Amino acid sequence: MAKQLDYHTLREIFTRFQDAEAEPKGELDHVNVYTLLVAVALSAQATDAGVNRATKTLFTIADTPQKMLDLGEEKVIEHIKTIGLYRNKAKNVIKLSRILVDQYGGEVPCSRAALESLPGVGRKTANVVLNMWWRHPAQAVDTHIFRVGNRSGIAPGKDVDAVERAIEDNIPVDFQLHAHHWLILHGRYHCKARKPLCPTCIIRDLCQFEDKTI
Ligand code: SF4
Repeated sequence: MAKQLDYHTLREIFTRFQDAEAEPKGELDHVNVYTLLVAVALSAQATDAGVNRATKTLFTIADTPQKMLDLGEEKVIEHIKTIGLYRNKAKNVIKLSRILVDQYGGEVPCSRAALESLPGVGRKTANVVLNMWWRHPAQAVDTHIFRVGNRSGIAPGKDVDAVERAIEDNIPVDFQLHAHHWLILHGRYHCKARKPLCPTCIIRDLCQFEDKTI
């Protein structure tokens, strides 16, 4: 685990991320906040591309909690059966849709506690929805952010909670809204798990990783 980088280095790193991509976007397809919530819940232990393939038709048929209930669990299973843990995920999609209809008038609530109380929605899923839809500077630490944070020293921590705290405590607040996507995209396309693309990395001179590729 690298040492936590200082304020000025972090400001320089995120200025470079911002110059390269001012408005980084998540890659999960959705048409409204409800379909975003469902897509994020489905993405646990699955790739965004795999989820997008599975939801392409599903979301044209069921883009509201009531339409999802009308479709029913068995049909939801048919649409998402290419995704890992699909039976359990389909069950949760139906259960959370029922709660949204019964308790929230068919709307998706915009508080972390309310989101986390929904079946199949953990802190990470809630944070992604809060960040992407309501532009709340919430950090959802996935495998990419965990790896980049620890290798580079941007946000070192022994577990995802520690990395989330390191981001919130150390990254200048004007970069916090987009930190989540800059780090995910950097991890997915540059700081790859097996062979990071260090020679072309825009923060190579600031990164603390001792085993940079050449
Ligand atoms: S220099 Fe290499 S290890 Fe460091 S952030 Fe860039 S790709 Fe990752």
